Amino acid sequence: MDDLVHRVALVTGASRGIGAESAIALARAGCNVALGYNSSKAEAESVARAVRECGQKAVLIPADVSASAAAEMLVGSTEAELGPVDILVNNAGINPVYAIDELNLERWQTTLQTNLTSSFMLSQRVIPGMRERGWGRLIMMSSVAAQLGGVIGPHYAASKAGQLGLMRSYARLLAGTGITANAIAPALIETDMIADNDNISPDLIPLGRFGAVDEVAELVVHMARNAYITGQTFNVNGGMYMS
Ligand code: NAP
Repeated sequence: MDDLVHRVALVTGASRGIGAESAIALARAGCNVALGYNSSKAEAESVARAVRECGQKAVLIPADVSASAAAEMLVGSTEAELGPVDILVNNAGINPVYAIDELNLERWQTTLQTNLTSSFMLSQRVIPGMRERGWGRLIMMSSVAAQLGGVIGPHYAASKAGQLGLMRSYARLLAGTGITANAIAPALIETDMIADNDNISPDLIPLGRFGAVDEVAELVVHMARNAYITGQTFNVNGGMYMS
């Protein structure tokens, strides 16, 4: 297993939920961490404090990942403050609920740009450096919605399924370069994202409870350490989808 000490991780959506916990878990494993977020500055600052308490460096980078300049802003600032990105966790995401008849092109594009295009743009920006250095980890935070359709809507399911295709293509094309690409497909992890959605309840989960953020974050670290796992989707879903 690879040592993560002094590796540089960039985690998008690191101010809250799964991203925040993944950033702290990577710091515990020895990484310096760049924390991307959209608007939750106070929450992001508290995650940065937790990273520093682990003895690692943290840098905060506010950037709306749906904007075309975001990848350059996030990766460029990380490189300037911490050095080249070794581990990219494409975690930032939104899940606005729309019924089929409420969906239109604008709503579709907003979700696709935030959840999928950002993963593409950020990955494209870090891959050349990872390839040159012969080491890199691309991790996509997908969803059970990619596998089962889910309760959010076609726009969300498509964005999350897109991340899986992107991941597999990178895994295949970059095999042998020292770069691995993998995905996590969580289901019903207790975060702000699933609060206030009446369609979401622990009854949907065979294990009968929501998952906890650390149950996802430990897999992020595992994937970052393991050089022999690539092209895989890890289901953290309490048995909701069995593969
Ligand atoms: P969350 O608690 O709602 O946190 C979302 C994070 O994404 C926040 O840090 C937020 O930043 C950031 N973000 C949202 N829009 C952004 C934008 N336009 N630009 C930059 N950052 C943005 O969500 P979560 O539950 O931790 O979910 C994390 C990932 O896991 C998402 O991709 C989600 O689709 C996926 N997932 C979650 C579940 C679940 O059950 N929770 C299940 C399957 C998949 P601000 O705080 O600044 O807004």
